[in-house]
Amino acid sequence: MGRLTGKRAIVTGAGSGIGRAASRRFAEEGATVLAVDLNADGVAETVEGRERMSAETGDVSDEAYVSGSVTNFVKQQGGIDIVFANAGISGGWMPLADQTPDYWENILRVNLIGPFLYVKHASPHMVAQGHGSIVCTASVAGIRANAGVHPYSASKAGVISLVQTVAYDLAGTGVRINAVCPGLIETGMTKPVFDMARERGSEDRIGQINPMKRAGRPEEIANMALFLASDEASYVNGQAFPVDGGLSASHPYAMGSGQQRAFKKAGE
Ligand code: NAP
Repeated sequence: MGRLTGKRAIVTGAGSGIGRAASRRFAEEGATVLAVDLNADGVAETVEGRERMSAETGDVSDEAYVSGSVTNFVKQQGGIDIVFANAGISGGWMPLADQTPDYWENILRVNLIGPFLYVKHASPHMVAQGHGSIVCTASVAGIRANAGVHPYSASKAGVISLVQTVAYDLAGTGVRINAVCPGLIETGMTKPVFDMARERGSEDRIGQINPMKRAGRPEEIANMALFLASDEASYVNGQAFPVDGGLSASHPYAMGSGQQRAFKKAGE
């Protein structure tokens, strides 16, 4: 028995990175998975040769698409047990003074309105069944500053608020909702950062400000999504979980601080 045997799941942003790793992991654990992404080639590659997986090209910020896709899925599968609303965009970097409402809207539409649309259209089916788990991808950027451009951080703080508030809309229904907050993970989104570091020979400096002293892998976020999606998390609700090597556990500190030197000395 897999950890998701018999479950029916939709995973968005499944053409790359975290969504690809999670959708494959869900299927390996026994779920029937609809992998959704804007990138048709990417999502086709995700499901290629895999059991219980199918691919669909769609835009998570388009309500007509999300509503139609969820309805079709429920018709075909007889219900829906899991949504991993994970698709997102970084928006790149832009100084505050150059940012426009269009720039903000584009990021908010995908990163925040996308998860909202899946909550809106999937939760009534889950409520009717009396069970279901929704997992949304937020970010450490939604917890504190300096992990993304302003509208990206605001969108991810919005996702955390969405899961907290929706948990109460779904009170007493048996449907849970949580968020995962990745730290720095090597994916399509962060490829430029990793490529540049490799080019400069400074790859070993990536992730050095978290106590694990490395970047994360998509599979490490998929593991948390799997737990939250599964019945193992049956009493976990309305929460946002950092998976960031410990990054968000700290206040800012100076590398090589007196305290660290003291610990090092004590261990010598
Ligand atoms: P990724 O490798 O770029 O994967 C994201 C996927 O989402 C891409 O295939 C992308 O397609 C797709 N997508 C973008 N807009 C979409 C839309 N409107 N509708 C459907 N699909 C869309 O990035 P990732 O790192 O795995 O990102 C997954 C989630 O993790 C995002 O929500 C991101 O904000 C979050 N996150 C990532 C990190 C990190 O360090 N990587 C850290 C914290 C949070 P295109 O390639 O065509 O755009």
